[in-house]
Amino acid sequence: MYVKPLALPLHIQEAMALDRRVANTHLQKHAISKAAANLFSGYKGEESLIYHLNFLPEDDFLIFHYLRIPDGKGRFQLDFLLLSIYFFLIIEVKNIYDNVTFDEMGQVYRESAEKVEVFGNPVDQVNLQHRRLLSWLREMNLPAVPIEKIVVFSRDSTYLRNLTNNKIISDIVMHRHKILPKIDSFINRYRLARISEDQLMELSYRLLEEHNPEVYSGMEKFGMTTHDLIIGVICPGCRNVPMHWKSGKWLCLSCGLKSKTAHRPALADHSLLIGKSINNREAREFLKLNSNSITRKILQSEELDKIGVGSGMRYRLDIGKLLD
Ligand SMILES: [Zn+2]
Repeated sequence: MYVKPLALPLHIQEAMALDRRVANTHLQKHAISKAAANLFSGYKGEESLIYHLNFLPEDDFLIFHYLRIPDGKGRFQLDFLLLSIYFFLIIEVKNIYDNVTFDEMGQVYRESAEKVEVFGNPVDQVNLQHRRLLSWLREMNLPAVPIEKIVVFSRDSTYLRNLTNNKIISDIVMHRHKILPKIDSFINRYRLARISEDQLMELSYRLLEEHNPEVYSGMEKFGMTTHDLIIGVICPGCRNVPMHWKSGKWLCLSCGLKSKTAHRPALADHSLLIGKSINNREAREFLKLNSNSITRKILQSEELDKIGVGSGMRYRLDIGKLLD
């Protein structure tokens, strides 16, 4: 059962919104695009595990995607966490193309004809997550539950090499097709219930409560102001901007596409980059409309929550609602 199902985290949505809204000619464009693409490819890697996790016995595991839990030393992040009354499992997902080598010195790298790229060692990383989760759990005064961990490479074509004699690496590191047999081996190993169903539920609530999602602050990170952003409604067909509001619909002058809802992702972008609420004037500017009454009509058709009254009235831009 998914307690915290797979979802594109807000900070990645923000990174992608910023990339969409910055012109190719902007000085920071390359860095912004690269950061967004990296985050999104990491997420796609995590997404590719769902197919396999869906084969697990539904009632036996509580599954969390993306947890970021505060502890005394900051926050530790888990790509996936599986809880059962028998054991817990941390899954760290890596999305690296071509090849990955683990060597005797504990280095992890990708090799090509031109260069060697060194990465942080994901085994060290997952070991540290294990340690931090363990001490976080100790504070909850629960009975001890065995914690297992695996590092999963989400691309089937990544060639994994272990140049060490360390069997732990081959044991922990795998392709995604090996997840299910691996989890089966844990199921066979841990047959004794360590905590009650109630304790497990309590732990789940606590994890959800403590989850502290990452904040991207892309505008700040890249030294941007709202003047650096492309405004207007983006055509969902050809990405041309802006679309024009003509007789109750958005029209793309570049490809001819018409849409009644193309302002929704634009308002979501506003929420991600500029502010989580908007008033009539701001919406008129951002959507490049030339009438207050049309702006009001469009905003009201979305049934957004309203804050304040009269001329100070603002609409709450709920991303979940807008991108539903
Ligand atoms: Zn178009």
